[in-house]
This record gives sequence, structure tokens and C-alpha cells, in this order.
Amino acid sequence: MTAIEFIRQCESGFLHSTLTDDQVAIYMTKLRVFSGSQLAKIYEKILETCMSFPKISHIYATAAELGFFEAHNPSDEFKPHRWEPADCEFCAGEGELSVIFDWFYETRDDRRVETERINRIFPYSSHDRIKYKLSPTEYERIERCSCAAGSAKTIPGVIKLRIAGAT
Ligand SMILES: [Zn+2]
Repeated sequence: MTAIEFIRQCESGFLHSTLTDDQVAIYMTKLRVFSGSQLAKIYEKILETCMSFPKISHIYATAAELGFFEAHNPSDEFKPHRWEPADCEFCAGEGELSVIFDWFYETRDDRRVETERINRIFPYSSHDRIKYKLSPTEYERIERCSCAAGSAKTIPGVIKLRIAGAT
């Protein structure tokens, strides 16, 4: 059922109802979101529930009742991570950071202890990060940035690790 068929059916289904051209245009715009089979189901339901020519709000309420506005199960869908360049000085809007740690020995209280420090931070997909070669005393952790971009739900929660010699 097309949108205009839906309107004509309603006009014949509800006695003494005819829309003006302007009203038809408004209905057409609002009905465009539904498929033909959805319109047919909405029409059947409306015949049973509507006392007079259905207002757009009633058509939408009926569509909602029939479950036509329900989102797909989000766990079924692959959600690519989308981001906009931003002026975050760490991630540039990407939300993910490559953090390069360097480990070394230092002497504390006459004891030699292994310690580490952050050596560099790159936006995860930046050219500089991709061409960066880890030295044998470095390793990389992928972390969420603390800016708004870093709170995107599409960034995996797992922190990845990379050490020298591995890809
Ligand atoms: Zn950031």
C-alpha cells in the first residue's frame, strides 16, 4: 500500500472524509517513513480503533503500538567507531591513544629498581604512531583518552599491549 493509497482508503473507510490538497501533502510527508506492508497493517488496525478520519498522531501511535519504531537489537549490529577531528591535543578527536612507556632502572635507597615512565603519546591512528618503532625498552598501551571523544561506547574497553618486536 502506498502513502496515497493509504489516504484514499482512509477517505473511503471513514465516511464523509476528504482531505484538501494541502492536507494530503502533509500526510504524504509523514507517511513516507513507513513501508507499504507497514501502511497496510496500520490501516487494518486504524479501521478497528479509529472513530473518525485518523489524525497523523493516531497513525504514529498505531505504528508505535505495532512496534514499527523499535530499534533493532543493538548487540546484533556491528558499530564502527566514528569520530570527528577535534582540538584535543592528545587524541585529535579519535578517543584512542597510543601510550609508549619506557622502562629503565633507577636506584632507590641503594637498591636498583625497575621503573617505567610515559615516553610518548600519539593519536592511535596517526601516521607518527604507525611508523614509530618501539625500542627494546619500550612498550605500547592503547588507552582511552580522557576527553569527550574517549567516552564513545564504540571504543573497546580492552587495553591492547604491544612490545618491541611484535606487531
Ligand atoms: Zn582526546
